[in-house]
Amino acid sequence: MTTLRDTLRARLALERACGADLLPVPRAALARRPPAAPIQTSVRPGAPPSDRSPSRSGGTPAASKAGVPVSPALQVSVDPVKAAALAALETRAKACRLCRLCETRTQVVFGTGNPDADICLVGEAPGEDEDRLGEPFVGRAGQLLNQILSEAGLRRADVYICNVVKCRPSVLENGRRRNRPPEPEEVVRCQPYLRDQLALVRPRVIGAMGKFAVTTLLRVDAPMGQVRGRFQTRDGVPVMPTYHPAYLLRTPGDIGIVREDLKKIVAKVAEMKSKG
Ligand code: SF4
Repeated sequence: MTTLRDTLRARLALERACGADLLPVPRAALARRPPAAPIQTSVRPGAPPSDRSPSRSGGTPAASKAGVPVSPALQVSVDPVKAAALAALETRAKACRLCRLCETRTQVVFGTGNPDADICLVGEAPGEDEDRLGEPFVGRAGQLLNQILSEAGLRRADVYICNVVKCRPSVLENGRRRNRPPEPEEVVRCQPYLRDQLALVRPRVIGAMGKFAVTTLLRVDAPMGQVRGRFQTRDGVPVMPTYHPAYLLRTPGDIGIVREDLKKIVAKVAEMKSKG
C-alpha cells in the first residue's frame, strides 16, 4: 500500500529528476517592496460577504470575528498592481490543462485573501467542498481554520490562502468521487502557480499547513510532529510548519498547537515590521 510518505518521496525524486527549481522562489523575487499607497482592503472579486473586511488603513480599530483585537502589525494595504497581476495569474490557472486533474475538477481553486498580506497560508489541495465552491479552506476544515485564525488575532481576510495544487485530486469509488492526495507529477506540474503566487504576494511569513505544503516549501521529509512549531527559513522567508485543519478535525486535541503556531507567525510578522 502506498503511504503518504512514499508519495512525497516519489514526488521529491521526480522533482529532482526533472531538475525542478520551483520552491521556494528566489530571494530577490520575494524581497518585499516598499508598501503601496493604502487603498481599501482588497477582496477577491466574487468573494463571499464574510470575506469582505473594511479598510484597515484608516485607523479604525479592527477586531477578529471572535472579538480578539487584530494586531496593528498585521494591518496591511493593498497594491492594485499586485492584485491585477494575481488576477491575471488566476485567469491563466483557470484555463490550465497541464495535468490530468483538469479532467475531473469542477473548477480551479486558485487562492483567496489579501494580495498584499504579510502572511500566506499554504495547504495541500482542494477537497470536495473547495472544488464545489472554488475557494480554498472551506467546509468544516475551513470553518475550523477561521476559528483558529480568529483566536490567534487574525481575520481570514488578513491572510492570503492557497494550496500547493489548484485542482481537486479525486478517485472514483463505488460511483462516487472521494478526495485523494496529489500525485507527484500533479504537484510538479502545478508548482509554477504557487511559485508565482508567492512571488507576487511576497508574504513576510508563510504558514505551511500539512505535510504536503511542508515538503513542497521546505523540501524536508520528516514527521510533522518533529518539524511543526519551529520556523525554518528558505531564501530569507520564514516558513512555519504546522498541522492542516483537516488533520485537526480528526485530532481536535491538537487545535491548541496550531493556534500557538499561528500566534508565533503573528509575533514574527510584528517583529519583522518593527525592524522595518
Ligand atoms: S492541478 Fe494545477 S497543473 Fe493540474 S490542471 Fe490544475 S492548475 Fe493545471
